[in-house]
Amino acid sequence: MLNRQGRSTQAVGTEDTEMDMETFTGNKGLNHETPLIFEQGLPGRVGVDMAEPKEVKSRLGGLERKDPIGLPDLSEPQVLRHFVRLSRQNYSIDSGFYPLGSCTMKHNPRINEKVARLAGLGDLHPLQPVSTVQGALELIDSLAHWLKTITGMPAVAMSPAAGAHGELCGVMAIRAAHEANGQARTRILVPESAHGTNPATAALCGYKVDAVPAREDGRMDLEAFATKLGPDLAGVMLTNPNTCGLFETDVKKIADMVHEIGGYFYCDGANLNAILGRVRPGDLGVDAMHINLHKTFSTPHGGGGPGSGPVVLSEALAPFAPVPFVTHGAKGFDLIEHARGEAAASFGRMKTYHGQMGMFIRALAYMQSHGADGLRQIAEDAVLNANYIRVGLNDLLHSPFKGVCMHEALFDDSSLKGTGVTTLDLAKALIDEGFHPMTMYFPLVVHGAMLIEPTESESRQTLDEFIGAMRHLLGKAKAGEADYFLGAPHFAPRRRLDETGAARNPILRWTSPAAGQLADDVTLSAAS
Ligand SMILES: *Cc1c(COP(=O)(O)O)cnc(C)c1O
Repeated sequence: MLNRQGRSTQAVGTEDTEMDMETFTGNKGLNHETPLIFEQGLPGRVGVDMAEPKEVKSRLGGLERKDPIGLPDLSEPQVLRHFVRLSRQNYSIDSGFYPLGSCTMKHNPRINEKVARLAGLGDLHPLQPVSTVQGALELIDSLAHWLKTITGMPAVAMSPAAGAHGELCGVMAIRAAHEANGQARTRILVPESAHGTNPATAALCGYKVDAVPAREDGRMDLEAFATKLGPDLAGVMLTNPNTCGLFETDVKKIADMVHEIGGYFYCDGANLNAILGRVRPGDLGVDAMHINLHKTFSTPHGGGGPGSGPVVLSEALAPFAPVPFVTHGAKGFDLIEHARGEAAASFGRMKTYHGQMGMFIRALAYMQSHGADGLRQIAEDAVLNANYIRVGLNDLLHSPFKGVCMHEALFDDSSLKGTGVTTLDLAKALIDEGFHPMTMYFPLVVHGAMLIEPTESESRQTLDEFIGAMRHLLGKAKAGEADYFLGAPHFAPRRRLDETGAARNPILRWTSPAAGQLADDVTLSAAS
């Protein structure tokens, strides 16, 4: 059946409600459907009534666009409603629990937003003369000081725009250091359980990626590591705590062994929230480590940005840090913009301008509002919450590694064996319960992995509710109710989608359906 917008109502209902509870509009109460914005356009409709521009002589030398770009013609209320309706179908940390492992989706205190919007900070332009931005440079310098103090490292590069960009910065510094020593090393060791960005970074920098297997206990296999050391090795990239949510207890040995053969130790510090104020990476022999400000120090992220990934550097790598960086002298704060003078060995620039200023402000506000004791408590509470979930579920779900976890609890799918229910089914049913699913099928070294990171910002009530929902669903699975999971999510705005199809064959251009059909439907909705 076609509704007013000419769309099949099949797409919007759930199987059990379609028959008896179908609405004329396809809306479900206050959950509004919204067609593609292109389907809503009507040629000639206007949102903003502006005067025709004066004839101007083009300066594009014939390169200007000749045809209309095909944007739909819409009224202002249509545009507003379309995007507000879409936003209400979205899930966010502000609407519910978001336990994505390895992503650290924690609450962003609103004080961060308030200070980031202060006129003197929010209105800055990166090309302003240095004399007019002394306060902003002082802020960057203070944040750098906090990051160096927290990590026990002597230097920090502030400009990288995210964790993966920070990795690129760190590995470029490693390469620059080897080149400065006249060494052409070709290989980087990466554990099998690493975040995908690690091998990608090493490969992007021209290195051969050599994978190190994990031990039974989920840590990197030290013996296998030892056999892979050699003079062609540029370094090792290790995540600590690792992506199984475990502390790499051999980390100091690993650092010493890689230093012994003249290599460098890159530590993926995306999970710093688990050790904040408890462990200083500088004491572990780290040479370069990115810190995801958007994970450890709150600030919103997701959907591709924004992020910020400053990289702390050891004495050995500091000279190769990218420009620009802030200095402080007799005449106040200054910016070193080019790879010369004080920055002569710098490998160059990571991006335009100085880094993600808005994120710097939020991160510093977060640090200063928590203080040293508060930051330490973040790590303690993050670990406590993860273990609360681990213990709350471990009679129904199997943990591949024994003992206490760090900031995230990891389960495999062995206890779902024979139920006909998969990790994916369970995740989809969690959506019906009003939760964003955990990270699934990662790390790859664990079969049917479920990686759950509650973060410190969740209350015990929320954790109990989540554990309750998980126990309810696992109970159903084990009671032979696999059918319930097949159609899940039942209550989400969309049912189960072909996610692979959406990624592999995205439809990025809208083609209008048969003109007559569209005209009728549009007339009907325009008249109402
Ligand atoms: C998130 C994450 C990254 C990548 O950080 P982005 O800011 O998303 O680029 C790298 N490693 C680990 C372990 C992570 O959790």
